[in-house]
Amino acid sequence: MTEALGLSTVLGDEAAYRQAVAEAVAAAAAYYGDGSTALDDEAYDRLVRRVAAYEEAHPGQVAPDSPTGKVAGGAVTGDVPHTVPMLSLDNVFSPEELTAWAAGLERRLGRPVRAWSVEPKLDGLAVAARYREGRLVQLITRGDGAAGEDVSHAIGTIVGLPDRLAEPVSVEVRGEVMMTAAQFEAANLVRVEHEGTPFSNPRSGAAGTLRAKDRPYTVELTFFGYGALGPQRDGELARRLEESAHSEVMEFVAGLGVQTTTATGAGMTTATTLEDVQRRVEEIAGLRTGLGLGIDGIVVKADAAADQVEAGFSSRAPRWAIAYKLPAVEKITRLVEVEWNVGRTGVIAPRAVLEPVQIDGTTVTYATLHNAADIARRGLLLGDHVTVYKAGDVIPRVEAPVVHLRTGAETPIAIPDACPRCGGDVDTSQQRWRCRQGRLCHALASISYAVSRDALDIESLGRTRIEAMLQAGLIADFADLFTLDHEAVLGLERMGHTSTTNLLAAIEAAKTKPLNKVFCALGVQGTGRSMSRRIARHFATMDAIRAADIDELQQVEGIGPERAALIAAELHVLAPVIDKLAAAGVSMTEPGATTGGTPGTGTDGPAPSADADLPLAGMTVVVTGSMTGPLAALSRNETNELIERAGGKTSSSVSARTSLLVAGDKAGSKKDKATALGVTITTPEDFAETVKAFL
Ligand SMILES: [Zn+2]
Repeated sequence: MTEALGLSTVLGDEAAYRQAVAEAVAAAAAYYGDGSTALDDEAYDRLVRRVAAYEEAHPGQVAPDSPTGKVAGGAVTGDVPHTVPMLSLDNVFSPEELTAWAAGLERRLGRPVRAWSVEPKLDGLAVAARYREGRLVQLITRGDGAAGEDVSHAIGTIVGLPDRLAEPVSVEVRGEVMMTAAQFEAANLVRVEHEGTPFSNPRSGAAGTLRAKDRPYTVELTFFGYGALGPQRDGELARRLEESAHSEVMEFVAGLGVQTTTATGAGMTTATTLEDVQRRVEEIAGLRTGLGLGIDGIVVKADAAADQVEAGFSSRAPRWAIAYKLPAVEKITRLVEVEWNVGRTGVIAPRAVLEPVQIDGTTVTYATLHNAADIARRGLLLGDHVTVYKAGDVIPRVEAPVVHLRTGAETPIAIPDACPRCGGDVDTSQQRWRCRQGRLCHALASISYAVSRDALDIESLGRTRIEAMLQAGLIADFADLFTLDHEAVLGLERMGHTSTTNLLAAIEAAKTKPLNKVFCALGVQGTGRSMSRRIARHFATMDAIRAADIDELQQVEGIGPERAALIAAELHVLAPVIDKLAAAGVSMTEPGATTGGTPGTGTDGPAPSADADLPLAGMTVVVTGSMTGPLAALSRNETNELIERAGGKTSSSVSARTSLLVAGDKAGSKKDKATALGVTITTPEDFAETVKAFL
């Protein structure tokens, strides 16, 4: 790939050098401007290295706009001066380079570094948050390092950056503003509902959001601090911070209530030997995919203030800190084809077929393209080189075409004018196109989903049997299962008396499933099994759910205005199916839940006291490893249901918000992370004892 892009060769002459400078400047402008990517990180780093190598050999030809030696490649400026320049870090790319850098630093100091601090490098935007007497008064981007842009309008929308500190001190906290994977998915849902382009990656989402002033909606960001300065006029605190080790400064910042890199789940640790540093680097790299947020490297710093002062600064970076870069999560590959798939709700979604590319340890062959309008907005063509983003549990996505690599052989992407599954009409009135037949178009998928283990759990009803019933016209949706006629089923191929009787008995048994399973079976867009449980617990009856307006739906945790509107619209579409289910005698209530939120009573949802008495009330619980004791018989989903019955919330990843980790046999990185974060860890047996009333 690098050969094809011509990125691995040496710059031959001044014209090639100028061209390389222009390319790097354009890429840096896009990256730091709207966060889009013209070159992936590795390609950009290689390009800048080639530029630097040429400049070293030809010092007389250095272009004034060269990105070398400049913060952010010289791409951005601002008008709010920084009190102390906000520099970027130099990079290393291998253990050998890290060792060489550390040796250089120790040579400069004339002695070993006293201690190292090691923490993740976050893939967001650097900002300075200025607090005056404990109040957050100004937020400034890094800009060109000397001056940044005032983005104070974003105050109040950033998790981890409180409006008020625990103490009334004046201090500038520096750190990274970013979108976590969950915030990124939520933001794109909101963007699409508002007919906007989905953000192509969390960093561009954070960049765009931080600058946006007049959006009709807000999306959440997260802050992690990695440095602090005292104000010029408060000599006392400034001196104290200057004389403290980096790790002490960050403890002080965390004590003020600001989130620091310690809370990322990858932690911040100190080490005294370089071997320990390398081990920590490997550990953090290993945690990368499970963090739920983007890191692009690991920052290694000389921890002690005295070491930092003596090492000093170069023109663009401190000499006492380095960024160990991890493999890029953006790569360039070719767009081979676009497939149009119909989902179980009838949504027609394009999917990019890519020339397989290795990104962060996995081979990526497919990536999401959202919708037809999005393809047009991104200006994609078949055969294009495209940047692809994949990090952690984020679904791979195509970001943008690399226009300057076009050969002229690229062709337009065909947009279907009929449903690619049934050939019927397409409803294009929304951003997400849908077959006019809705769930009936791909009934096999929607019915299979309804009878799956997490929903109605009718094990004997596999895809072949569903397909046969659909073909014979016995059913059109899953509600029809409950009124199936014995003779008609018997008439199907490969159905005998016993299998028919057993199947109908299994269907009959599913009528008594709790409301959360029945609701899950509906496959309402914007809900899955855990959201279905929350909805069922909150409303207790199907009637109460159907009667809920958008405001009432939003009282369920995790449902915002967009999702509430989507659920309400879906319930309207599904009304005939729900009516059929009710008429067939399918259970429409949630055992144990109370209808505190019954419409018309004027109360504000279910009485909280009912939940507050439960053993796991207010707790977020993560389960990892294989379960032993009474929990051994439960699937992970059943264990999660148990936790929710006992009043807790479940999560799949450990973070600072985790209250409890249930660690079974072979608990791996989640247990390490919980230990690092000080999260309480319990055994499956002890946990079973706590919740035995709900087993
Ligand atoms: Zn269709």
